[in-house]
Amino acid sequence: MSAAESGSSNGNPTVELRDVSKRFGDFTAVDDLSLAIGEGEFFTLLGPSGCGKTTTLRMVAGFEEATEGQVLIDGADVVGLPPYKRPTNTVFQSYALFPHLSVADNVAFGLRRKKVDKKEADRRVGEELERVGLAREANRRPSQLSGGMQQRVALARALVNFPKVLLLDEPLGALDLKLRKGLQVQLKGIQRDVGITFVYVTHDQEEALTMSDRIAVMNQGRIEQVADPEDVYDKPASSFVAGFIGVSNLMPGTVKTGGQAGEIELDSGVTVKAPTDGLSAGERCQAVVRPEKLSIGEGGRGHPSVEGLVESSLYLGTSTQLIVKLPDEVRMTVLVPNADEAERQQLPGGGAKVKLSWAPDHMHLVRESREHSTDDKEDAT
Ligand code: ATP
Repeated sequence: MSAAESGSSNGNPTVELRDVSKRFGDFTAVDDLSLAIGEGEFFTLLGPSGCGKTTTLRMVAGFEEATEGQVLIDGADVVGLPPYKRPTNTVFQSYALFPHLSVADNVAFGLRRKKVDKKEADRRVGEELERVGLAREANRRPSQLSGGMQQRVALARALVNFPKVLLLDEPLGALDLKLRKGLQVQLKGIQRDVGITFVYVTHDQEEALTMSDRIAVMNQGRIEQVADPEDVYDKPASSFVAGFIGVSNLMPGTVKTGGQAGEIELDSGVTVKAPTDGLSAGERCQAVVRPEKLSIGEGGRGHPSVEGLVESSLYLGTSTQLIVKLPDEVRMTVLVPNADEAERQQLPGGGAKVKLSWAPDHMHLVRESREHSTDDKEDAT
């Protein structure tokens, strides 16, 4: 895949990987991967455990060397350069702060080693602590801070060096859900404020959708799609992406006619008009409709529909989740907002025969991915 195919950004990329592979013995962890990340982008590598995202990040940082291919930062080939000679800093899941040093001294550590003038160092440390909201904690020890605060110290310690690229490897992974959500918003704000390119690794799809300008979805050492969060969700490039991001609502079928005004015959027996660009007659594919885009009942004029049996109905507070089984044993998840209590009471219960419908615009066709598993997504919750 060329950089252009992988969705390169405007201008010269700040980070570029060209046909990069990494093998550990016989095992290929990263398989011929190309990527171009633009200046000031918040770019996320997303995928299940073991898909190669940390290895990719470590090759940019210099903790691993590529077996094949080129890694460029600001146009310069950095292969062979040790981490400290690269214009990058890394924030890890474990904060790795010095317990015997104060917060301010932890942040100043890199500057002291570089022999930056004390006055200048103090100014920069003060500025970064202010940015991460820890100015008042400057004289505390790490053990006197919460996990979220310690991670913000680690962030300030990285930012104070003015790296060209900040690499973040599951930095919020050790925090509880509520703290993680708060820090996601803060991190995104800090990234906008400093304007530095962030390359972020996570297996949490919600985190990736919330924070990123663009996301690379990885599977078995390869990139399945690079796109902005809206497109990754609404227009997944493959059944793997459709299953990994959001609820896997896939209806298998066969293309009857290709092209813009194409047709697909779903295995449930219904023929639906859909743009089938890139697919040819007879090809197997899957139709994706997100749970919130499905309606119970006939739907509007020209809306396709399929029949099914309600298997379960679950009250989720803001919405009700129905699982509907189609004739071909495919299960579809439907989310109905609980805006009106009277309407909610009318929803069909388990065992009821229903029609599921959707607006044609809300259906997106994908090719079958090569062999894959989405089981690891469970970890992300
Ligand atoms: P996780 O979120 O679990 O860390 P990941 O997507 O970041 O997953 P990597 O850590 O990049 O995955 O690992 C990719 C694959 O390479 C895994 O199967 C892993 O076991 C293997 N791997 C990584 N580092 C090494 C190593 N030093 N020696 C051998 N195999 C390795």
